[in-house]
Amino acid sequence: MNSFTLTQAEAVQAAVADNTSHDGAAYLGGGTNLIDLMKYNVARPTHLTSLGHLPLSRIEALPDGGLRLGALATNSATAYDEQVQARYPLLSQTILAGATPQLRNMATDGGNLLQRTRCYYFYDLATPCNKREPGTGCSAIGGFNRVCGVLGTSESCIATHPSDMCVALAALEAVVRVEGPAGERTIKFEDFHRLPGDQPELDNTLKPGELVTAIDLPKRGFEKNFTYLKLRDRASYAFALVSVAVGLEMEGNTIKKARFALGGVAHKPWRDQEAEKMLEGQSASPDLFRQVAAKVFAEAKGYGPNSFKIELGRRAIVRALKQATEMSQELDSTAFLNSNP
Ligand SMILES: Cc1cc2nc3c(=O)[nH]c(=O)nc-3n(C[C@H](O)[C@H](O)[C@H](O)COP(=O)(O)OP(=O)(O)OC[C@H]3O[C@@H](n4cnc5c(N)ncnc54)[C@H](O)[C@@H]3O)c2cc1C
Ligand code: SF4
Repeated sequence: MNSFTLTQAEAVQAAVADNTSHDGAAYLGGGTNLIDLMKYNVARPTHLTSLGHLPLSRIEALPDGGLRLGALATNSATAYDEQVQARYPLLSQTILAGATPQLRNMATDGGNLLQRTRCYYFYDLATPCNKREPGTGCSAIGGFNRVCGVLGTSESCIATHPSDMCVALAALEAVVRVEGPAGERTIKFEDFHRLPGDQPELDNTLKPGELVTAIDLPKRGFEKNFTYLKLRDRASYAFALVSVAVGLEMEGNTIKKARFALGGVAHKPWRDQEAEKMLEGQSASPDLFRQVAAKVFAEAKGYGPNSFKIELGRRAIVRALKQATEMSQELDSTAFLNSNP
């Protein structure tokens, strides 16, 4: 690990000022990803602005009926918050599907958004990686890419965003609040993470020095029909190969509103709004779910070892939609008898 200086920021603007006044500075949340990357020499900040003392850990109701998650709220505090559990159980479920209790006790909601890819080559300094060292090449293309993406990839990078929590935030249509040198702004969740294009070193649309201060959840929480399906190599302590977060509003067997997003398949939580529209106003049925799944993966591209994710992803969508619709008391469950996703 290289040497670095550290400031314990006491106020939001002071944190931004401290960060922007040091070349090569980084914000430090819970440190569960950044410190690892520093130990591996993948991240080499010369200065850290520690956020631990900032008054950003509250979870509070918003006047418009939504909920604000302070960026410094831990993943555990968020998952077990009474309002989150009652109104946004999908979010609670996704957070609890990730990492371990010890990690969730340290990890912050802001840091979760900004955790970096788990592509093996990104952590291996002996191999070329455009995300770690722009312009060096991508070892995963033609290499061991089982964990990599199949949607929205580029010739420069096929990495995935590893977060579980962010998959739910995409489906819930959260809004990210940031404070930067130019003041405050908000970013719609779908615009927060980037596709790799020819600049895979950029994971998101934050500008230099911008600090995530909160995540706002809208009023709609999909508390009656929701599911998070996470498919992985081990039952715990593993990142998703493919995951699906679903939130539905149902009237009987009819889907009135549908939001869903996928993890483990792209450089960002993958949301397909046209596929969501295919569900709305329709009766829930395995056939419909299969059509939607086929649409989502119509443009998918496999790279050999990870090509299995395309069929796995299709099946995961069908199963997740089925699970979410089956939560409704009024659903005609015979529609799913003998259905095989
Ligand atoms: C063994 C292990 C297993 C894991 N398994 C899973 C899993 O299954 N699913 C999953 O989703 N995650 C998993 N994680 C990842 C974990 O969820 C993240 O490491 C954690 O959420 C990051 O939060 P943090 O506060 O510790 O961030 P940090 O490590 O402090 O920071 C991460 C990045 O965010 C930046 N940052 C932090 N806070 C802010 C802010 N407020 N504004 C701007 N920038 C900020 C930092 O500069 C850094 O670049 C795992 C991690 C480990 C170590
Ligand atoms: S997929 Fe992206 S992160 Fe992985 S080696 Fe290629 S450039 Fe690096």
